[in-house]
Amino acid sequence: MRMFISTIVVGAFQVCLLAIGMFYTLVAQSKNPIIDSVFTADPAAIVHKDTVYLYTGHDEQVPGKTGFIMKDWLLFSSKDMVNWKPHGSILSVADFKWAQHSAWAAHMIERDGKFYFYTSVYYNGGENPGFAVGVAVADNPAGPFRDVRGSALLTNGMTNQSSNNWDDIDPAIFIEENGDAYMFFGNSVAKYVKLKDNMIELDGEIKVLDLPNFTEALWLHKKKDNYYLTYASGLPETIHYVMSKSIHGPWQYIGLLNEVAGNSNTNHQSIIEFKGRDYFIYHTGAMQHNSPIGIGGEFRRSVSIEPLLYNSDGTLKPIKMTTEGITVPIK
Ligand code: CA
Repeated sequence: MRMFISTIVVGAFQVCLLAIGMFYTLVAQSKNPIIDSVFTADPAAIVHKDTVYLYTGHDEQVPGKTGFIMKDWLLFSSKDMVNWKPHGSILSVADFKWAQHSAWAAHMIERDGKFYFYTSVYYNGGENPGFAVGVAVADNPAGPFRDVRGSALLTNGMTNQSSNNWDDIDPAIFIEENGDAYMFFGNSVAKYVKLKDNMIELDGEIKVLDLPNFTEALWLHKKKDNYYLTYASGLPETIHYVMSKSIHGPWQYIGLLNEVAGNSNTNHQSIIEFKGRDYFIYHTGAMQHNSPIGIGGEFRRSVSIEPLLYNSDGTLKPIKMTTEGITVPIK
């Protein structure tokens, strides 16, 4: 009888262990990359009404072709940073009648109840054909979006600090507490310019920033009274950052924020605060071969998310890239 009871106890213990194991598997499943139904790149996220809206580029795979094949931008949303709802394609290059190709990095910002989406696209017109910035607007974060100007906001010919025709890509918008809006942008040379209150016209001269070993992918965010300007450096790209007490600088170089992202020459960060926590959103080429869309790579990128942590002096702890990502839903 005693042996019988012991067997039951041991059996129950084993069932318990199995249940714990299954629970752990469910909770701690790998979440990076966060989307495995389509390739996603160049993340730009905002928080609106307790929801994260994550806008991404869209790497397409075409057999026999290499290089970036990007025609539209996608949207995903989440209320807990773990479960992501796809909204599909929200805008394409074809929606900008003046543009020809390349739906490169974009940026979303809300102002006065409208949602402005700034894009990098190729424009074969103007005095100096090359990559330009367009802007689309919508009344809600999921669209529908329309080309609000019918022309480029910024064209390659407006800057000439570097000779490449993609030196005006990667717009990143920031609105000061007093309402002044600025667009940071650039490849090879970092630049910024004030925007008019209507958000669709430049207001004044384009200024140049001197950032160590700058490549591209500027992102400006503010925490307490510190401004942080993060950017991709070198190639393959690592993410570095500078800090300032003013949006106009002077900027102090602090150091490395994120190492080379697995299997991708490029990187592109988005930084948000959601429900009191901070996040670093980026892309890698680390999609595994057993995913529904196949293996990742330089032109088949996928978005991942990690916590962003601050030191007590306001500097940032280097990002720890993981395959787990955010595993516990944020309530
Ligand atoms: Ca230019």
